[in-house]
Amino acid sequence: MVDKRTTCTGCSLLCDDVIVRTDGLYIDEIFGACLKGKEKYDLITSKNRLLTPFIREDGELVKTSIDKALEKAIGIIEKSSKPLLYGFSTVSSQAQLKGIELAKLINGFIDSNSIICQGKVLNASKQTGITLTTISEAINKADLLIFWGANVAESIPRLLNKVLFSRGKFRMTGREIKTIIIIDPVKTASFGVMGVRDIALKVEPGRDIELIRALKEECCTPDSIPSTGVSGIDRDDLKRLLIQLTNTENGIIFIGQGIVGSSNNSEVIQELLELVQMINIRQQKGRMSVMMLGGHYNMVGFEHVALSLLGKNHSLQFSDNKLIETSNTIISKINNDDFDCSIIVGSDPISHLPWKLSKKLASKPIILIDNKKSATLNFADVCVPSAITGIECGGLAYRLDHVPLELEKIINPPNNIFSDEEILSKLYEGLKRG
Ligand code: SF4
Repeated sequence: MVDKRTTCTGCSLLCDDVIVRTDGLYIDEIFGACLKGKEKYDLITSKNRLLTPFIREDGELVKTSIDKALEKAIGIIEKSSKPLLYGFSTVSSQAQLKGIELAKLINGFIDSNSIICQGKVLNASKQTGITLTTISEAINKADLLIFWGANVAESIPRLLNKVLFSRGKFRMTGREIKTIIIIDPVKTASFGVMGVRDIALKVEPGRDIELIRALKEECCTPDSIPSTGVSGIDRDDLKRLLIQLTNTENGIIFIGQGIVGSSNNSEVIQELLELVQMINIRQQKGRMSVMMLGGHYNMVGFEHVALSLLGKNHSLQFSDNKLIETSNTIISKINNDDFDCSIIVGSDPISHLPWKLSKKLASKPIILIDNKKSATLNFADVCVPSAITGIECGGLAYRLDHVPLELEKIINPPNNIFSDEEILSKLYEGLKRG
């Protein structure tokens, strides 16, 4: 048995300090991962693990060989004139690249889960600009951490350990000089770490934008805050918030799902990024940055691969093997029935999308590539099981702060199943051969 330091792919924090005890065939113990991370390693032998290829015959999913599953998938794609490719947030960047190449070959539309999550922040930043930071900066230099619509204690469990409780490299101080502010309509588990100096702001649901607008107006001039407060937050708390925003040396706003999932999200995100830029222009001595809290471990990777390859990070539509302009999104494509089959990679859209869209997606052939059972499997016409990246195969992934990390293989995958990248390459080669 040897102890091996590895990177956990349980969430987008990609903790690279997890130790696994292994004999090269099995993983015996895991040290340092949170429960969510441990669950990822437990998936290897879990009942939920997908290890067998399936194809649908006479309405029933039946076990098959990998070759037959790939053959059926190729047959479906060959008959398709409007294929849709979706997911790609829980696979390596090499697999993301293969997915985009496949979409180009078959004149498909490809998008990642990021379009309905943190990609909205990146898209808004094209208008406003964005000041990003890294986890190392947060550990070593941050003195103000604002969690806006983000319940990190549950979604990214070790983030608070790292950025709030750790000691910085340049200061012999840690938690005692860090103030946290949580802005959320509900009292989440993250409120549990708050101390006397911290500020808990229960904003009224859907009224973040009024709060941001008030902060933009009053930025650096707290005297004219309305006596009634804003968005359910009273005047004194608003003053405290403003003082923190304008006096921080190194402040970070962590943007969570509570904002990106709100009904008026594009306006809210744009105004929040404008507020950050305003603070930075007026700040004499400090800096305010943002960090996007995507959930899946390589959600950021798709943006980097697509941007570097095509100069566009979302909603990639190919025609005549070229990228063309489109106003479509994955939502409009499904909603308008503008597709005739889908290739879903490492995702469970049947569970995650609203029922109306799930029903439309399920009405056309689905090719699923994944390593765990999901609701999407129940509607798939072909399922090809894949190895777990970071455990059974390697690859590159981008952490939530856009830092690339190499994921290493620890053990061989069971049943000689392929990585996502290999499966997509086999589809690509099979289709190219015709
Ligand atoms: S915080 Fe995320 S990456 Fe870190 S151990 Fe937990 S699940 Fe894994």
